[in-house]
Amino acid sequence: MSGQLDPKAIDILTRACARKRIREDECAYLLDFPEDSPEADMSVALADRIMRERCDNTGDIGVQIGVITGPCVGRCRFCNFSADTTDAEPYVMPDDVLRDYVREVTRFGDVTSISLLTIQNFEVDDLIRLVKVARRECDKGIGISINCGDLEYEDCVALREAGAIGAYHVLRLGEGRDTSIDPERRKRTIRNLISSGIITTTCTEPIGPESTSEEIVKNYMWGLNNGCASGAVMYRVPVPGTCLAEGGSITDRRLLQMSSVMALSTLWYSGPFSFFRWDLGYQGGFNKVFAEYAAGPRDTAALTENGRGRTVGWARRELFKKGYDKILRYDGSTAVLDLEYLRKTDSI
Ligand code: SF4
Repeated sequence: MSGQLDPKAIDILTRACARKRIREDECAYLLDFPEDSPEADMSVALADRIMRERCDNTGDIGVQIGVITGPCVGRCRFCNFSADTTDAEPYVMPDDVLRDYVREVTRFGDVTSISLLTIQNFEVDDLIRLVKVARRECDKGIGISINCGDLEYEDCVALREAGAIGAYHVLRLGEGRDTSIDPERRKRTIRNLISSGIITTTCTEPIGPESTSEEIVKNYMWGLNNGCASGAVMYRVPVPGTCLAEGGSITDRRLLQMSSVMALSTLWYSGPFSFFRWDLGYQGGFNKVFAEYAAGPRDTAALTENGRGRTVGWARRELFKKGYDKILRYDGSTAVLDLEYLRKTDSI
């Protein structure tokens, strides 16, 4: 490795950092560098510095709870719930179980959002009821979001009126090929959510070793150009027993390079679009991290807190390990994130 930086990459990165717009082919050019190249390292270092400045080195924790799970007609070839391969039983979380989860994850005041996850086939009335339960159970400063199957406009309005302020919805890479869902259906739902006034976050996922730079950039920019409030990138987890488990996985380092390039590529944008990280939020200056509870699409354990174990305590520890010195609280204030804080919150 010579250590000499590619002049075109330097030029693109310099313009991106100066909040100048860079083209999609220039983003793809940066993504084409190997993850262990100096150009990738430079993308990560620049994004890290800028993102930490923006958030004042403050970590932010969200929580996902699987409330309606089981065999799913989406049949996504990467998902634990695909009806073709899953062992999961149909499940709708009882209200009192959701109340217990909400109380447990919010008890130290440092969770800012709770996302209720469902499979593709679900009764919207069940989700409306569960949104109301979560909304009633926690402080108004904590945002309740939905991560559910496709929705008609009227359903979105009803969910917003029930208390859902945000939603996570994705036009997946390989939608219609690795899933049984028409890509147009996914896009329609995203538009329905946005039109109903729900703040909608999207993500470029699930990224596998076969995903090209061009398709990653195209998918990411679709979210930006279609009114989503934030975007992210996420790799495919090779869940045992799923069709794509043998398809391999990209590394954390490669994902970090991708998220850095995509974050830098939208610095020019003065609208509401922002970048967040779905899973490895604690790495490299991306300060939003999600803990996961109950059943989840990326874990075969019945309760993912007992499987992958990405609990709120885990999230606090990881934020601390990655050098965040403050943690955002539900009321907008911050707490010092140090060993004492980890002790106080039963995280170590
Ligand atoms: S990713 Fe979602 S839509 Fe696809 S099988 Fe899993 S739960 Fe269903």
